[in-house]
Amino acid sequence: MKSQKTQSAINTYLKETGGWVASQLEACTRCGICAEACHFYQALGNPEYAPIWKLEPLRRAYEQRFTVAGKLKLALGLEKKLADSDLEHWSKIVYEACTVCNKCAHVCPMGIQLGPLIHGVRAGMAAAGVVPADLAEATEKQKTVGSPLGVTDEMWRERIDWITDEWEAQIPVDKAGAESLVVFTSIELMKFPDNLAAVARILNRAGENWTVSSTGREVVNFGYFEADEELTRLFMYRVFKAAEELGVKRIIISECGHAYDAFRWAAPNMMKVPKGVEIAHISEYIHQLWKTGRIKLKEGAFDGETITFHDSCKIQRRGGIIKQPRELLRVLAPRSFKEMTPNKEQSLCCGGGGGVISIKEADANRYAVFEMKIEQLQEVQARAVCMVCSNCRLQFVDSVGHFNLPVKVHGLAELVSKALV
Ligand code: SF4
Ligand code: SF4
Repeated sequence: MKSQKTQSAINTYLKETGGWVASQLEACTRCGICAEACHFYQALGNPEYAPIWKLEPLRRAYEQRFTVAGKLKLALGLEKKLADSDLEHWSKIVYEACTVCNKCAHVCPMGIQLGPLIHGVRAGMAAAGVVPADLAEATEKQKTVGSPLGVTDEMWRERIDWITDEWEAQIPVDKAGAESLVVFTSIELMKFPDNLAAVARILNRAGENWTVSSTGREVVNFGYFEADEELTRLFMYRVFKAAEELGVKRIIISECGHAYDAFRWAAPNMMKVPKGVEIAHISEYIHQLWKTGRIKLKEGAFDGETITFHDSCKIQRRGGIIKQPRELLRVLAPRSFKEMTPNKEQSLCCGGGGGVISIKEADANRYAVFEMKIEQLQEVQARAVCMVCSNCRLQFVDSVGHFNLPVKVHGLAELVSKALV
């Protein structure tokens, strides 16, 4: 049965199906190659997890409204109009079995951008209010409190003070005239506070004129996970506004892949962004500090047990920051660093991104996917793994505990800070 919420989803899909979306949908030859690239399909074998099937609500809305074939299928009863039950069904597929990693797009012979299209399917779900409860709750907290983990302004200040004391790391707050605004995630603040301390130590050692902001303090974007355009804009606006008020030259995104994707690629296409303000990811910025001699590192500081690198989909595959972390790791562990296979653009997603890790019902899916990551780790006999995304790090820490693996999990900033000369 079609209700107002289904109509909201259909309206969103029809609004989205301009020339670009239509051409993408029409180009698909149904070859099925993308299925083999999807870690959820590979790990669970569910045909509904094939990337192209995840576009089904968008395709049906488009074809039934705009194409002769779609109208005929409807008239002959070969296909039905979208109904509430369809939205409930696909909501579980696109939020709980997709990290929007976009690996499927890399193998599609027609060049179809499946990741952004699946984001579009999520947009319809968000408009209809058919979003997994855990994800919706975190988004609401970010809207009302300013953080998906419910970190209030007061808690944030206390936490910054505590990190400053505990790690003896100076963290400038709301420093007008600073050149760089560093924005962290609540995940780092609450679960990996060592990461804030590590970044502070590195920037202070380099003599960087930097600050954090008490108003633009959250970089992760649960509106972007949900694909709610208005909230996506609101959460980025808070950071851009802080950047403008402080007069910074750049915004440095901390170890968060989706945030980097949102600020670097999505923001200029959906909102007014401050002119002349550069967006940099912390890993490329640290690399630049090292390359230009502003920080020096102890060579071989982490040589010993085998250490490998996990590529984060939004930072490496989408963002192209591939050689920078590797160059740093070859200094930190020249003899012990080993690559997993596949890697770089072809890397295997950890299974926790795109909001998946925040949805309890998706736990079985993400653990199943992580078993493929375990195989990769075991192939190189890794005893440690490093990454540049806190969301990936959370998935690794949780899954390493779940499977009781003898593997240490590190953020790149953490390793660099420990190797500072
Ligand atoms: S974006 Fe990633 S998780 Fe989603 S369907 Fe494509 S390969 Fe699978
Ligand atoms: S690989 Fe591309 S053309 Fe083939 S089914 Fe997937 S989206 Fe369609």
